Amino acid sequence: MTLRPILIHPDPRLKKVCDPVPEITDAVRALAADMLETMYDAPGVGLAAPQIGVMSRILVMDCVKDPEAPPRPMVLVNPEVTWASEARNIHEEGCLSIPDQYAEVERPAEVRVRWLDLDGAWQEETFDGLWATCVQHEIDHLNGRLFIDYLKPLKRQMITRKMEKLKRERARA
Ligand SMILES: [Zn+2]
Repeated sequence: MTLRPILIHPDPRLKKVCDPVPEITDAVRALAADMLETMYDAPGVGLAAPQIGVMSRILVMDCVKDPEAPPRPMVLVNPEVTWASEARNIHEEGCLSIPDQYAEVERPAEVRVRWLDLDGAWQEETFDGLWATCVQHEIDHLNGRLFIDYLKPLKRQMITRKMEKLKRERARA
């Protein structure tokens, strides 16, 4: 397993729609393992393939918060939302591609998602709470959408400028 560098916004790769994965191969399984390792190392609760520059519809997540509880690493390939609740929820979101910036985003409180697992079998599950927020945030990444795209333009521009400054500082370091 390898830690992959995480792209920082703004980056054109974070704005693109990703391609479906045609087949579960060993390369897909290896990529998923790298993504989980990179996510846990960050640390974060979710990571989408475009965040490491891979333009494929793959996301990983683990929203288990209790440090005593066993981890639940999940890999979702070609995920699609098949149902969303009318009830909505506001969560404070952050993103590994937008470090140290947080904002409240409103989304459906529950979603049902269908995806391919690493054995090539279709799975379907209903998510709520932080899991629902996370899976929608990560699926957005696969469609080139960031959580700051839900914010008012002024706030979005302010965050983008901070990230541009951060990238300049990192490039100089
Ligand atoms: Zn994100």
